Amino acid sequence: MIPLAIPNLSGNEARYLQQCIDSSFVSSVGPFVTKFEEMISEISGSNKTTATSSGTTGLHSALTAVGVKYNDLVILPSFTFIGSANSISHCGAVPWLFDVNPITWTLNVNQLHDALKSKTIRTKEGLIHKESGKRVSAIMPVYVLGIPAEMDEICRIAKDFSLPIVADAACALGMTYKKKKIGEMGADLSVFSFNGNKTVTSGGGGAVSGSSIELVQSVYHLTTTARVGSDYDFDRVGFNYRLTNIQAAVGCAQLERLEEFVQSKRNIQKQYNDALLQIEGISPFPDPAYGESSCWFSGVQVNSKIHKPVSEIRKELRANEIDARPFWKPIHLQKPYEHSPKESLDFTDNLWMDILTLPCSTSLSQSDQSKVILAVKNILS
Ligand SMILES: *Cc1c(COP(=O)(O)O)cnc(C)c1O
Repeated sequence: MIPLAIPNLSGNEARYLQQCIDSSFVSSVGPFVTKFEEMISEISGSNKTTATSSGTTGLHSALTAVGVKYNDLVILPSFTFIGSANSISHCGAVPWLFDVNPITWTLNVNQLHDALKSKTIRTKEGLIHKESGKRVSAIMPVYVLGIPAEMDEICRIAKDFSLPIVADAACALGMTYKKKKIGEMGADLSVFSFNGNKTVTSGGGGAVSGSSIELVQSVYHLTTTARVGSDYDFDRVGFNYRLTNIQAAVGCAQLERLEEFVQSKRNIQKQYNDALLQIEGISPFPDPAYGESSCWFSGVQVNSKIHKPVSEIRKELRANEIDARPFWKPIHLQKPYEHSPKESLDFTDNLWMDILTLPCSTSLSQSDQSKVILAVKNILS
């Protein structure tokens, strides 16, 4: 079976892990954690980074640090992984779900602007969603598949309504927006994931970066039990969300190869595009002119009015020993979020089932990719 996406661990991973064992630094303090954070700050153009146990726990801590509280609403595109929504729920808050833009598949900024204008009211307590009476306390844009959201517009709206931005950049490392790095795009905090299926992995892990050293420091404080001083004193309800030195050792070895990995992800996507876009009813994943996608996942959009359903295509691919899996079912169709407030989600409703992801491991060989292309062509013809 040609796998969908497996990690590439052929660099310094084993050597760095051995150093953890030899030095006995295996837990949440150690030179690799510090190095990992410095590397992410450098790569993302941020002033400071704190490492977390996952992308989801990074998002939870980041939302808490910008002031999201129990019973608040946090603006989120419905077309995302469930972890984005869960991080909001972990704050006791509720996602307010928005559609994505057909051109970019990221947060629809016109809908965002219109809804904030017509459905909220400013009070002493903050921005209140009129229908539910809940306070709106943050915006979480998602760089879905590694595609940059329209951040200039989102930042302008956020400023107009005095809302902080926590960007879900979980799969976006390597992406650029108007030649800027992720940390320079205007979000207060940007959150990365290093889960096993991401372009670079630490086994499991995450990181929160920002330009405000104070704000990132407060995320660090939250993730390390909110301890004050070296005795057992704590000044708020904190979390145990720190990355370990073992995970960071793998993460450092992976980050050393980020450029190479992103380049190979982009090459793989380009080859699929070159071979498959000539087929009627097949369109590419978005590649907005204002930026460069990190191409976390490769694939195509299949017009199901012309072709068989993607679920059927996947079944046939698997019969050809090519791994294929469904892509994210949006948040508003998930049981825990069926009652979340939402705007019209017409585009998201029609998009998600038409997405066909294709094998895109950085180690994918030319002959395996040719095999995938041939199989897809046969199935679609
Ligand atoms: C991977 C991912 C997450 C979750 O990260 P974990 O490290 O698995 O918690 C959240 N949001 C998006 C968009 C992701 O791709």
